[in-house]
Amino acid sequence: MADVERVKQQVADEVERRADMLVEASHEIHSRPELCYEERFASGLLASMCEAEGLEVERPAYGLDTAFVARAGDGEGPTVAVLSEYDALPGIGHACGHNVIATAGAGVGAALAAIKSQLPKGRIHVIGTPAEEGGGGKIRLIKAGLFKDVDAAMMIHGFDRTLLHQDLLGIARATFEFSGKASHASADPWEGINALDACVQTYNSVAMLRQQIRPDCRIHGIITSGGMAANIIPESASAIFYVRAPRIDTMWELYRRVVACAEGAAKAAGCGLTVTQHDSIYEPMKSSRVLLELFAANMTSVGLTEGAAIPDRKGSSDVGNVSQVVPTIQPMIGIAPEGMAIHTRDFAEAAIKPMARQGMVAAAKTMAMTTYDLLADPGRVEAAREEFAHDR
Ligand SMILES: [Zn+2]
Ligand SMILES: [Zn+2]
Repeated sequence: MADVERVKQQVADEVERRADMLVEASHEIHSRPELCYEERFASGLLASMCEAEGLEVERPAYGLDTAFVARAGDGEGPTVAVLSEYDALPGIGHACGHNVIATAGAGVGAALAAIKSQLPKGRIHVIGTPAEEGGGGKIRLIKAGLFKDVDAAMMIHGFDRTLLHQDLLGIARATFEFSGKASHASADPWEGINALDACVQTYNSVAMLRQQIRPDCRIHGIITSGGMAANIIPESASAIFYVRAPRIDTMWELYRRVVACAEGAAKAAGCGLTVTQHDSIYEPMKSSRVLLELFAANMTSVGLTEGAAIPDRKGSSDVGNVSQVVPTIQPMIGIAPEGMAIHTRDFAEAAIKPMARQGMVAAAKTMAMTTYDLLADPGRVEAAREEFAHDR
């Protein structure tokens, strides 16, 4: 046991030794913000860094030009994945600090590759995952089979405070197209079938449904078309609704109830209805108590402390999808002053300040030590998988 702690300290020291290099890379990525699936500079920089540190790099990976996988370790044993994100937001750049996530992940791979001779059996995969901000890069990587041989995954996300676990809402989206029959709205209204009526009725039914849903769910929508002229009964009308919930089963249950609102409205108005479910569904975040406990223990040893919980500030991310196929955690790391909102210009500025450096280095150390724990004691990976299988 004492031996494990000694090597873990060594792993943390290897991260510390690379702190300047990691921070510099983080700033370079920050200064060249790239949108989803265009992250050529960032993925190239991180992949070369991993290669120089002795990891085996595959790039492009699994059909995505700006994805990469950097691998170290071998032998019978678990495979632990550490995920890096590096896409930016349109107009406001790295306003949720993906530059920090990017280099924290690469730092983990570098530190573990540096102690190769002492690495227990098993593998570490640093996975560069493009297009979190809307493109669903991780969903494509899951479909391509990238996570099939991964036993546990982790990443961190920058925030205004450190939180071990923050729920993510799943989102399912639907477009409703109602078809009716055009007719003169004054001379022959009884000849028409009003598609806009069905749209408005859907909107109102959803508004009523909203009273009966749990407070952590969200439904929001707009009417995207509602007719051509006021003197024509609208022959077509359409609406889009987003349905969000913290659990995948409640998300689909709620989605079905929203679709039922549209179906009922179409029936009432005598309209036809086409429902189109959008692909790239971001799934809710499942948690892993086993992985979180390990992370928590290591986090304290590098001086990270948890901030006050804020359960109502929930976003969505495609790491949620990863958490549905393999035990996964995404702790939030404080890299900006408390109270600062993400996706703001202030947060983009904060992502290259000293606090961001501190958070990134501490997060990389914590992830590297947690990865080491998992490789050193595969029973923990087994426990995480067991918990995963039983937690629906
Ligand atoms: Zn974001
Ligand atoms: Zn983000």
